[in-house]
Amino acid sequence: MSDYGHVRAEQTKSQGEDAEKEAADSEEQVASLPASPDPSSITATTGTDASSVLCKQRSRGHREPACCVKAAPDWPLRGPAAFAPAVINLNNPGFERAFRVKGSGSLLHGTSETNGNYLINRGPQEQSQKRRPVTVDSSKAKTSLEALKMSIKQLKWKEFPLGRRAPCDIYWHGVSFHDNENIVSGQVNKFPGMVEMLRKINMSRAVRTMQELFPEEYDFYPRSWILPEEHQLFATQIRLIKEKDAAVNPTFIVKPDGGSQGDGIYLIRDPADVKLVVGSQAKQAVVQEYIPKPLLIDKLKFDIRLYVLIKSLEPLEIYIAKEGLTRFCTEPYQEPSQKNLSHVFMHLTNYSLNVHSGNFVHSDSQNTGSKRTLSSVLYRLAAKGVDIKRVWSDIIALVIKTVIAVVPELKVYYQADIPPGKPGPTCFQILGFDILLMKNLKPVLLEVNSNPSMRIEHEQEVAPGVFEFVPSPVDEEVKVGVIRDTLRLMDPFHKKPVMSYQDKSRGSEPREEIQTDAESGSRSPDENQPSLCLKQVYPKYTKQFNHLRLAERIASLFIRFLGVKGNMRLGPTAFRTFIRTCKLSSSNFTMASVDILYIDITRRWAAAAADSREAGMGLQAFVEAFFYLAGRRFRSLSLREQVVSLLELCEAQLGPQSEDRRSLSCSRAPPPRAVKTQTPYHTNSQLASPAPQRRAASQDNRPPQTLKPRMLRASVEN
Ligand code: ADP
Repeated sequence: MSDYGHVRAEQTKSQGEDAEKEAADSEEQVASLPASPDPSSITATTGTDASSVLCKQRSRGHREPACCVKAAPDWPLRGPAAFAPAVINLNNPGFERAFRVKGSGSLLHGTSETNGNYLINRGPQEQSQKRRPVTVDSSKAKTSLEALKMSIKQLKWKEFPLGRRAPCDIYWHGVSFHDNENIVSGQVNKFPGMVEMLRKINMSRAVRTMQELFPEEYDFYPRSWILPEEHQLFATQIRLIKEKDAAVNPTFIVKPDGGSQGDGIYLIRDPADVKLVVGSQAKQAVVQEYIPKPLLIDKLKFDIRLYVLIKSLEPLEIYIAKEGLTRFCTEPYQEPSQKNLSHVFMHLTNYSLNVHSGNFVHSDSQNTGSKRTLSSVLYRLAAKGVDIKRVWSDIIALVIKTVIAVVPELKVYYQADIPPGKPGPTCFQILGFDILLMKNLKPVLLEVNSNPSMRIEHEQEVAPGVFEFVPSPVDEEVKVGVIRDTLRLMDPFHKKPVMSYQDKSRGSEPREEIQTDAESGSRSPDENQPSLCLKQVYPKYTKQFNHLRLAERIASLFIRFLGVKGNMRLGPTAFRTFIRTCKLSSSNFTMASVDILYIDITRRWAAAAADSREAGMGLQAFVEAFFYLAGRRFRSLSLREQVVSLLELCEAQLGPQSEDRRSLSCSRAPPPRAVKTQTPYHTNSQLASPAPQRRAASQDNRPPQTLKPRMLRASVEN
């Protein structure tokens, strides 16, 4: 089971330390935090209005691009001199016209040549080399369309708003990978299975597996129970806690599985208050420890929306947007009590809820209002002496660890939809991480959204009873930057060969600690351009995090024994083959015991995933079986050592092929540009889709995986 004790201990400590200041406002809370180890950096920021350090080049009239390079929260905290280039004062009248491009040494002017956000000095050679523009199919972009259009325009790429007969380089989907099934080439901005993987229950299970293996590393996720199956366990554990210490009265938050925008969420203090059945249906949900002491600003609870790009699964490449959003509650925060449990405007930070409060402030400024940029909040905290560098590096670690937790199952989905050797697109995806900072500044993961809202306008009552969509400058500032720089990173003409993670971990010597841009010299793919909004964090920090990728190695074994392409579940014969090939049976553990183990675990998981229409053993059930086998074989070791030992044993039995297989598991077919399509894309028969091909190749006559029905339920943006 997970060990959340570390977080608890820190919480308790901070409660004790600040008990007297309970009523004090957030400004005082922040001031009482430990001072930054580098006072010079604070001198640089203190007294500087947050807005003055944000490079705001946006103009609502003609929609000039925003500059999120300068708004990056990981600016150099090394004293005034190093800080100076990053500081642009909005109050300076010359600012709108000119700024210095990092590293170029030249002062560029607003009317000079632009590419997207950035002013570029083009060399004569580059100017002469014309290439065709990158093509983007935006026909399925839905609510991200506006931001996508702006990004494409800034990059001078070519948009196909109604789709295109010929293949496009990039397909932008609004909801899921399956928005358009007829894509055999190019790149799609969604991974298959991401929606399912990030639903609250699946996500909690994936993190729990990691908490079992690495309790200290995964203490950033609140302790969670899955309902209805773990209700009894939840009730018993809470009763025991209360019996031990009558003064303890924790609060819990119940979140429906697949819910979003705060829908159906409620707080409880008594396990008996869980609504297990709604109507006549058992409600699938996660009940989670409620963080009672969040960091407050202006006495309000807030959370962080951070955009994270998974550029590729194999090799794993993760980027974090340096600029994000913070969403504020609209009622001053008080610690949970029986009286205030139902005050959603006090406890839930969702924009979709708080926008209906009379106190919601739509502001054009990035550092006031109910939605602000992350950098404006970080600058404000830095001015109060908070060690922002540490906060930021904790956030980076949280993101990498979370992605590592979900990648194993994503790989199973990926090989099912885009089997190696079959034509199919490659995938990338922007995720929305919701993070809460505790009063002691420790970041806590609330959830990850597979479909974060990319809307850049909001509804406003322009006259009594008359609502209109009006531009939201804060959203535009952040989201256009994220989409545009994602596109830049996915530019097919800028692709560089990348090493697999095995090569990386062997070959390079990454740094010991997570660094800021200033220290590591972050580079854009194009040397002529300033660094991107998106900062690469993996494989950059491979060395610090590679040891966590144990579940991925288990997933590689699982995928290897799945056999029939397109399957996501292991049948009993395949499980037996796994045991035989890896020589895991013995006179003490006969094949009959293996069959019993298979039946036992598969039955339990089938009951837990009531909506699953596929028979067999899924990855999470396989992981449970693997843990069991590891425990039997290496009794005297810790769970982590048991798992590592069993993995080494299995991999040795399978030979080098297992490593090859691992690195191949998310590769795709050779460039499919040669495939000529005569028929229009959208009316094309199912033949072009990888999914039917997979089904045709399958000897399995059972219905294909239930991706679509589940997908429909998740068609809401978060
Ligand atoms: P949804 O997908 O419905 O938005 P979230 O998990 O993001 O669900 O929760 C909604 C809001 O509830 C969050 O934005 C946050 O303000 C609050 N919240 C969620 N989990 C916790 C928690 N464990 N402790 C404190 N607040 C939480």
